[in-house]
Amino acid sequence: MTENGQKVAPKFKIEFLKREAPNDPLLQELKHWCSEFHRLDLAPLYPGGSYGNLSFRPAAGSDQFIITASALALKEDLPDDRFVEVIDVDLKNMVVKANGKRPPSSESLLHSMIYSRRPDINAIFHGHSKEILSSGKRMDIPATEREEPYGSLALVEAALPLALEHDLFILKDHGFVSLGQNMSAAGKLAVEALRTAETTTEDL
Ligand SMILES: [Zn+2]
Repeated sequence: MTENGQKVAPKFKIEFLKREAPNDPLLQELKHWCSEFHRLDLAPLYPGGSYGNLSFRPAAGSDQFIITASALALKEDLPDDRFVEVIDVDLKNMVVKANGKRPPSSESLLHSMIYSRRPDINAIFHGHSKEILSSGKRMDIPATEREEPYGSLALVEAALPLALEHDLFILKDHGFVSLGQNMSAAGKLAVEALRTAETTTEDL
């Protein structure tokens, strides 16, 4: 678990189909948003070893997605091998099938469930921001009821009802999730929330 700030490996088993970094034209845009999240401090380290995790769905109608690798510090100009293609998620047996050189983000279960239940959503960005968390109530951003361990099924179960109704929500005492029809929409939602949070904080 997250005690003692230890690094937590993903709670699922990973089966690699191909040990190759993803090759998709939209990967460049995902790298851009990783760089933006870093620049705006939207993905600082969460206790236990998780930074933010960002993903997109390359092909509508498929539940496969490309996501940042596990325990990856977001920054500028990340190489292709820091991204992983998730091919299949078996929640019953907790097995994730992936193509890549590194394990996919520990929040892959959450991304997978959202993609399968929200066909209109093609990008999911998760970050950590004290500003957004502390202003969430004032900004009417829905939030889960209590903190759940990151990467856990409990977190997925708590977050999913919110994800079905909202494109921006808060994981209590942890971070935020922004969803979009494309990466630009998900990214702008997060950046606008940060801007509004900063403004409401200054007004106090
Ligand atoms: Zn997190």
